[in-house]
Amino acid sequence: MKRLSVMIGAALACACSGLAAPAMAAEAPPALNVVLKPHVPAGTAGYIDVTMSFQTPSLQAGAPLVRLPLQLVGIPTARYDGDALTARDDQGPLALEISEEKPQPEGVYRRWSVKRPTKGDVVVSFRAPPRVVTASTNNGPLFDLRAENGGFEGAGVGFLATPAAEGPYSVDLKWDMSDMPAGSRGVWSLGEGEVKAVVPSQVLSFSYYAAGPLKSQSSATDSRLNVYWLSEPPFDAKAFSTWVSKFYNYTSTFFGDTKSSYRVFMRQNPYAGTGGTALAHSFMFGYYPPAKPTVEDLRDLVAHEMAHTWPMLEGSHGETAWYSEGTAEYYSLLMAYRAGLLTLDEYLASINQRADGYYASPSRNMTTADAAKLFWKDPVMQKDPYGRGFLYLVQTNAAILAKSGGKRSLDDVVLEIYRRTEKQEPHGVAEWLQLVGKEIGPAEAQAAFDTMKSGKTLVIPDNAFAPCFKVVSEQRHAFELGYVRSNSGSDAVVTDLKPDSAAARAGVKNGDKILKAPDASKAWKSEKTEVTGVFERDGKSYTVTYLPRGGAVEAYHWERAKGAAPTCKF
Ligand SMILES: [Zn+2]
Repeated sequence: MKRLSVMIGAALACACSGLAAPAMAAEAPPALNVVLKPHVPAGTAGYIDVTMSFQTPSLQAGAPLVRLPLQLVGIPTARYDGDALTARDDQGPLALEISEEKPQPEGVYRRWSVKRPTKGDVVVSFRAPPRVVTASTNNGPLFDLRAENGGFEGAGVGFLATPAAEGPYSVDLKWDMSDMPAGSRGVWSLGEGEVKAVVPSQVLSFSYYAAGPLKSQSSATDSRLNVYWLSEPPFDAKAFSTWVSKFYNYTSTFFGDTKSSYRVFMRQNPYAGTGGTALAHSFMFGYYPPAKPTVEDLRDLVAHEMAHTWPMLEGSHGETAWYSEGTAEYYSLLMAYRAGLLTLDEYLASINQRADGYYASPSRNMTTADAAKLFWKDPVMQKDPYGRGFLYLVQTNAAILAKSGGKRSLDDVVLEIYRRTEKQEPHGVAEWLQLVGKEIGPAEAQAAFDTMKSGKTLVIPDNAFAPCFKVVSEQRHAFELGYVRSNSGSDAVVTDLKPDSAAARAGVKNGDKILKAPDASKAWKSEKTEVTGVFERDGKSYTVTYLPRGGAVEAYHWERAKGAAPTCKF
């Protein structure tokens, strides 16, 4: 299944971990009252009317009031063209000027600035339409607001024009359900119904909102973990929620986090594609019902996204993605195994799948910097930090175990990084190297890190997961779609076609329009899975099926060691 890392959300998940705490400053942050009023008139997808009241912002003429991206990582937002967004203050209607900010790699933000100085409180109003999605919509990060089964689910950044000034604000968020059927519920990542929280503007944007005939399940022991859905899923929602809840309890306890809460939202895609995005204290995933996903299929995705809550390095996405994605992969599996949520064989299969992902990756011999440059362009590149980070952490753990005679492990370093994150002490790549250096020696720590960054193939040490699992080397064929999917106007087209690839041999040419992209999400995991794509050249469509694999590469995996105990401690 497709996973997308979302650095913005992951960063926030930690940045706002103290958001329930009372403000320390003598002066309370300015009030920001948000009212969300969903309405689904019969036979329509409906909309959410949004009213946002700023407490005396005292803006000068020309100062920005609110902002919203036009698109974020390819996902279109509500935009609010023309006069769809209005404002007023004590002096009456407040004229706004629309402008666009300097483009960022993830998208262009639109801002609304006031044309005259403001007087008193400012009230901003707009009607949020859900995004229209169809069978041909591209899968991507879950930033858009969508209608489903008489309700709505989506991220703030897809429909909420949020304060241009970062804040923090004393937010009072309310749901007005007067136009909705009885029993309708409104949920934000930070709570259900009315929620008061001191948060920066970014948290309003990078969190989830759901309203309508929501069903939910809470963790049995407390209500720190809640799962929500609008449509009954094709899998056992209760079994799924129980698994997720146990994982959350175990992992949050491991990191010493006994306060924060977490919300999981699930929604249905009208197109073939599964994916999840982690935002503040929450994540949402979408699935394609005809694919009949199982609890087993989805729990990996869920555990990965939840594991993002705690481990975090300071620094740009390109510099630290190996850590955020690597630890999410490493700890989602390890915590589930330790909690008894994965059997030993399931754990073995899962770590082998991660190793396969790395050894079959077309980016494994690129530097991390080169892979990061292609991150937004090529979906396959988005997976680079996962496998690379995972295997590097496996290596690091093996080195620490060997050096300490089994007394210390990667856990000690990752927990110390998390402690520093919570204490707002420096916790970047330099601190990582210093902490690993203390365990295995500074030169060794630096050399292993440089190898990972350089793109030299990572070799799994024999003692990784010993004595239960032994390392086996083999020849593998790297995943190779054969071309880069690029945008040309509103079309997706083939570029950078590899002349010696299976795609080229199947007849695909540079410049061909991609009508239905080959589904890499399954083929990525299995060397024998072919892909089928529909392309168009000179106005004629054609279908090709091919095995998306390149030349042989050296690879490693694990097997159960002979005579090893049936239970193993990792
Ligand atoms: Zn991730």
